[in-house]
Amino acid sequence: MSVTRRRFLQIGAAGTGVAAASGLTTDWWGYASPQVPNPHTQGDRIVPTFCELCFWKCGVLAHVRGDEVTKLEGNPAHPLSRGRLCPRGVGGTGALNDPDRLKQPLVRMKKRGEDVFAPVSWDDALGRVAQGMEQVKAKYGPEAVALFSHGYGGSWFSHLMKAFGSHHIAAPSYAQCRGPREVGYNLTYGTILGSPEPVDIANARCITLIGSHLGENMHNTQVQDFAEALDRGAQLVVVDPRFSVAAGKAKYWLPIKPGTDIALLLAWMHVIVTEKLYDADYLTKYAIGFDALAAHVADKTPEWAYPHTGIRPELIRETARFIAGFKPASLVHPGRRATWYGDDTQRARAMAILAALLGNWGRRGGFLSPGQVEVAKYPYPKYPEHSALRDKPEGKYPLADEVLASGVCNATVGPDKLDGIHAWLVYGTNLIQALPDWRQTEKKIQALDFLAVVDVLPAEIVGYADVVLPECTYLERDDDLWAPAWNPPFVALRQKVVEPKYDSKPGWWIAKELGKKLQLDAYFPWQTGAQVVDTRLTASGMDPALVRKSGVAVGKLRPSCEEDGLPLTFDTPSGKIELASETLKSHGFHALPEFTPPDEPPAGSFRLLTGRSPVHTFGRTTNNRELTEIQAENQVWLNAAVAKTLPGFESEPLQQGEYVVLINQDGIKSSPVSVKITERIRGDAVYLQHGFGHTAKGLKFARGKGASDSHLTTRVAIDPIMGGTGMSVNFVRLERPGVA
Ligand code: SF4
Repeated sequence: MSVTRRRFLQIGAAGTGVAAASGLTTDWWGYASPQVPNPHTQGDRIVPTFCELCFWKCGVLAHVRGDEVTKLEGNPAHPLSRGRLCPRGVGGTGALNDPDRLKQPLVRMKKRGEDVFAPVSWDDALGRVAQGMEQVKAKYGPEAVALFSHGYGGSWFSHLMKAFGSHHIAAPSYAQCRGPREVGYNLTYGTILGSPEPVDIANARCITLIGSHLGENMHNTQVQDFAEALDRGAQLVVVDPRFSVAAGKAKYWLPIKPGTDIALLLAWMHVIVTEKLYDADYLTKYAIGFDALAAHVADKTPEWAYPHTGIRPELIRETARFIAGFKPASLVHPGRRATWYGDDTQRARAMAILAALLGNWGRRGGFLSPGQVEVAKYPYPKYPEHSALRDKPEGKYPLADEVLASGVCNATVGPDKLDGIHAWLVYGTNLIQALPDWRQTEKKIQALDFLAVVDVLPAEIVGYADVVLPECTYLERDDDLWAPAWNPPFVALRQKVVEPKYDSKPGWWIAKELGKKLQLDAYFPWQTGAQVVDTRLTASGMDPALVRKSGVAVGKLRPSCEEDGLPLTFDTPSGKIELASETLKSHGFHALPEFTPPDEPPAGSFRLLTGRSPVHTFGRTTNNRELTEIQAENQVWLNAAVAKTLPGFESEPLQQGEYVVLINQDGIKSSPVSVKITERIRGDAVYLQHGFGHTAKGLKFARGKGASDSHLTTRVAIDPIMGGTGMSVNFVRLERPGVA
């Protein structure tokens, strides 16, 4: 337990009567103690809030002098920062002070995509958005208007959309990122993993990463736990075609052939089952389907997996025994982005089943069952009933449990199709880069009756908008409360640190004013976002003034695993861990994960793999001057041996750092990107960090820096179970710029 967690100041239960009425209790509440003064920032006003630069949402203490934010540091009281921020969080002032920010409402003057706008008043801009939405509603119904949303401020617009009558609220982070993982673990254990993932890295004795780049994906306390676990002697197994930062710390690095994780997982399970290395008592007590699993993996020997994965049979056996040797505190990390080859739900299932064999779910050093604060809801009127969703036509993707952003895009049609989508409201997500196949996205955008974009920066999607609504940054606004599942459970507050710059506005204000123009006043009875927060806190038995002072209200640690005495329960149809899934079978899918070999890259081409930079969150930060001092552009990683014999470069071999263009299987070219020639990647793949290679003319700093993997992702493999778009199925070859 960290020092921070012992610092809770227990307080009296303000507002107990309201809490009791709402069914909530206050007896376990604590608030953070006042912060220790920092001599370097004495005299600064300190405002707690939480970060928006990635989904981890770390607690931040913002130092303010006059109207300037002088420094951002981690809130020691916040369980998801523990006094530290990652480089992106510290560099949040670069987002606040970005000279390229959207500064005023804009209306489009030329064709969508030509990025030519004229400034207008907020009243004019909001009137146009309301008119666009109303016209579509009148012709096709409210469900013909869809919201794409990414980021915490999107909750105001989700509320607006539901009040308007549409439940087409889609986050690309589902079908383009974490969706297969959520469905795979839900099928197995009856619960999704959510954000942040409830993994007990701190107590794991062995950590297995399969295509997950901890340390490059800088999710603050997860990385803190990872580093501390390794320091304490936890073992690490890394499966990755690339020698990642984590691989450098690993006992075993398995440079697997891309797209063959399921084969390796099945072979590992074969070894664990045939050698009886599994946790038999745990499986007997909690799981069903073991016999079916044993039969399924009986022929999935390491020798079977070798030609698929490229991992030698003896190494597969050795690592299987190694991983099982640390059970139950042997954590197979679930990763996050899981949309790779179209069999991604089954891949997630294979990882989940392996964890069950290790007895790792619900055990210390594995997957925990954290608590969650049930904060009172704001007493809004009931939302209108909505009709059937249009993102999953003809019964496709039966196990998707969120709206599919790519499905909404596909359902977007031109005039006269009554059951399609005809207008988009886009909040904080650059759909040109977030959705696969930008050509399709562009086509759908041109078919729209109306497109409004709410954003902080002039990203590519902004250039297509009919109306642009400039939101202020997270440091300039209040947002709704955040109460994730975590141990200890907590409620975090985002509050305004400084006044909004320029003529930008907070999301709550934009949603409320738009609501008024749509005659939805009844759904916006409050005056400010802060009022919503205070009402909810008070109704939950918490003192808003105290929460505002500390930025977070933290509950007591609670039992979260079997060793703590927590009974394990599984919300699956059987009430058990489902190794073989009857749910999948009933929908016509395989009850157990099957391996399908991926397509091979054509001769002279490489599979395009993608990942993260530790100092950027994709397009959200690549225009940030402070962060680009550390990294301004990406590089394409290419195997050193391959570089020596690269077709087209025979007479003049490729040099380290030389700029090349990448050309994909459909003839789409990237912008020039420098090459990193390295032995740290397999020869059949190249690697790019996502979020670079911008083309938007308003992103004056990021424009033209590096290459965009999104631009090259014109092919997808769709997961038939939940509609996720596998994007690691694109191939590229390299050329010198200027080659015809
Ligand atoms: S991990 Fe970094 S970017 Fe993400 S919320 Fe925390 S400080 Fe912000």
